[in-house]
Amino acid sequence: RKREIPFAQHHIKADELSFAAEKVISRLQKEGYEAYVVGGAVRDLLLGVSPKDYDVATNATPEQVRKLFRRSRIIGRRFPIVHVMVGPETIEVTTFRGGAVSSHNELGRIMKDVSFGTLEQDAMRRDFTANALYYDPHRQVILDFHHGVEDIRNRRLVMIGNPQERYQEDPVRMLRAARLSGKLGFTVDRQTSKPIAECAQLLQREPPARLFDEVLKILFSGYAQACLRQMDILGLKNIHPLLDALMPGAGGSEHIAALALQNTDERLRADKSVSMGFVLAAVLWPHMREAWIQQQARGMRSNGAMHAAMASERQHIDKHWGVPQRYGVTMREIWSLQPQFEIMRGGRPYRLLAQPRFRAAFDFLCLRANLGEVAQETVQWWQNFQQGTDAEREELIHTAM
Ligand code: ATP
Ligand code: MG
Repeated sequence: RKREIPFAQHHIKADELSFAAEKVISRLQKEGYEAYVVGGAVRDLLLGVSPKDYDVATNATPEQVRKLFRRSRIIGRRFPIVHVMVGPETIEVTTFRGGAVSSHNELGRIMKDVSFGTLEQDAMRRDFTANALYYDPHRQVILDFHHGVEDIRNRRLVMIGNPQERYQEDPVRMLRAARLSGKLGFTVDRQTSKPIAECAQLLQREPPARLFDEVLKILFSGYAQACLRQMDILGLKNIHPLLDALMPGAGGSEHIAALALQNTDERLRADKSVSMGFVLAAVLWPHMREAWIQQQARGMRSNGAMHAAMASERQHIDKHWGVPQRYGVTMREIWSLQPQFEIMRGGRPYRLLAQPRFRAAFDFLCLRANLGEVAQETVQWWQNFQQGTDAEREELIHTAM
């Protein structure tokens, strides 16, 4: 069953790996261990895409790996893995897994007790054939147990094993199918896609924090729009409020979230940075704006209504949607500054301009203006105010009165 793909058929040169990946593998092999690049990095190299990070699989135990690298630490989620730091890079080193024993937990979900295993077993527990390739840079061969190379050539995403069982074991694999097919432009194999519509509701039992992690990977893949289209095609609906808000048809391309996503995709593909807080502020905006309008309808003034709306939605956003604190802060700052753009008198514009988040909040205002939520004159006024000299600013404040 095991195939060895020689260099003549894959053309991946050892020096295409990152410095750190090559170092980690050399060191492990020098100590007599087996070590391979595995997963997304091999797939991406075959596709001629430069990998964004590297995973290494080895038969060394986490303790053994830890001892070989001074800058490394064991991190344990469901299974211990080792982060090895080399220069600015972090390589994830995982010990071959296998010997999964199935049992049912109280939710009726199949749980597997994972233990260390052989290379073959490790290949078996991976999700898609395209993700189960092992590259040895020194022998320059790829080990392929599940026709992964052929599937990549045909741009096909194929689940290893029985797809329905694999989704029951870990429902997040359904989201991965949508994300990877969207990002890579692969077709999801018929057998792999078939059980998804039926298994989709299993995702509702996933902890919000784990779903949110996947949602972020989708939003920041550089192909968010394509991934969402794939979710729609595969029948992944009502998974996470963030994704539902973005699904095709949920407000159309006029939607602020759609605009923000398009912008994010473009920036990421041009290797520019994006702010998670900004994108989340946009994605959750329709929801927040609704709450803001309601508070105003109760007689609150714009600024107070925004704070009341943020307070009332906070619990919901943090707990139910799983938005971590670190993104929540920027998001809320951008929102809380929005009503302040309405005030163009006295010292207020100066104070707003001095806010550390002014730039992000102003960009957000521009997005809103593109949708007709805010008058173009307001945007123009703030544009002039930012660029103006002291005298021009005074003049602007005067004319606004
Ligand atoms: P990306 O390019 O987005 O990093 P990736 O395939 O590398 O894609 P990772 O989340 O980095 O995705 O996972 C690394 C590898 O671990 C995968 O290629 C796959 O082999 C395996 N893997 C990850 N998540 C799962 C899962 N839920 N079930 C089975 N295997 C998984
Ligand atoms: Mg990866």
